[in-house]
Amino acid sequence: MNNILICNALPTYENCNISLDILKNDSNKVLKAIESKSVENNYILIGEKDKNIIPKLQEELSNFSNLNIKIVTSNDNFHFVYTNESAALKAINNENPIPRNKENNNILFSIEELCNYEEKRVFITGKVIESKSYSFNRKTTGKEILDKIKVKGKFKSMYLGFPMGIFITEKNLENEITLTTDKIEVFNDTDCMLAKLKIIAENYEKETCGRCVFGFEGVTQISMILSDILNKKGKIGDLEKLKKLSLQMKSHTLCDVDSILASSLLNALDLFYDEINNHITKKVCEAMECNKFVTFHILASKCTGCGECIDSCKDEAIIGKNKFVHVIVEDDCTQCGKCLNSCEEGAIVKAGATKPKCPTKPIPCKK
Ligand code: SF4
Ligand code: SF4
Repeated sequence: MNNILICNALPTYENCNISLDILKNDSNKVLKAIESKSVENNYILIGEKDKNIIPKLQEELSNFSNLNIKIVTSNDNFHFVYTNESAALKAINNENPIPRNKENNNILFSIEELCNYEEKRVFITGKVIESKSYSFNRKTTGKEILDKIKVKGKFKSMYLGFPMGIFITEKNLENEITLTTDKIEVFNDTDCMLAKLKIIAENYEKETCGRCVFGFEGVTQISMILSDILNKKGKIGDLEKLKKLSLQMKSHTLCDVDSILASSLLNALDLFYDEINNHITKKVCEAMECNKFVTFHILASKCTGCGECIDSCKDEAIIGKNKFVHVIVEDDCTQCGKCLNSCEEGAIVKAGATKPKCPTKPIPCKK
């Protein structure tokens, strides 16, 4: 039998304190669950930022005189890595949580696993009316999740975060899944999946420890290729390169952190291939989210010539004077999008292939 048990209470996502909330609100149940495993040396891992809960935990611990348990605080700049046993073992010895391998000797448990909760709590955010925690059966489907939440606009997909790393769309809504993530992000038809993939990759970039070449280099390469495509520098063959890289990462990384990104990428390329590829081949972002693929315009019918937008444009691409319809000079505009929310009249819009008819020079306002 193992003589070590580690209970991981570090959040996998900042602001999604599923495990920590249980530890705070039901510490007695957690400690009983640990006691029931009858292991010699027990550890509770919490993040540095959360050490204010230690006094309350110590107080509760006084009711468990036979339990040998240590509360260890660890570097909470990382989150995903604490689901890896070799990294958690380092953390309890106050070493950097750098994984050695993917081995699982049944030493490490999440709080929900320890307490045998039948339901999984998960924080749902993104294009939903209300971002909050929901509970679902561990075995569920995308459809059951969708039935419980209210999506803003037309549902496009949802990303079930680490350690699941999968996308669900209308195509696979009915597939059974085992819910293990603490966070789901919902997207609607105003979300570009290429842009979202880049944000997801950036998050994994922050989580990677840099120890294995395929992990660190792989994540860096993925992020660079996605950036190029977003900046209209995508090349034919980039998506095939991403696929090859992801397959190599999946089999060569030392822990799951970077290989889950690789799986997410393969999944996204499968579900959103045309949408992503259109950025390369047609130079089009269907969702009109990627600024480099849209143009910005000021509608003459709405502009009051107040001039409020001028300061928002550091590139001096907006011209006009008081009570004259302002104009964005396309050649000077770097498509940064900063002006978009500066107009209270809603006169500044972005456009894809079909552009609105706008004056090319400031003209007197009709409004
Ligand atoms: S675009 Fe909006 S902010 Fe700019 S001048 Fe016209 S009304 Fe004012
Ligand atoms: S998108 Fe950026 S560069 Fe273009 S007009 Fe607006 S603020 Fe200026």
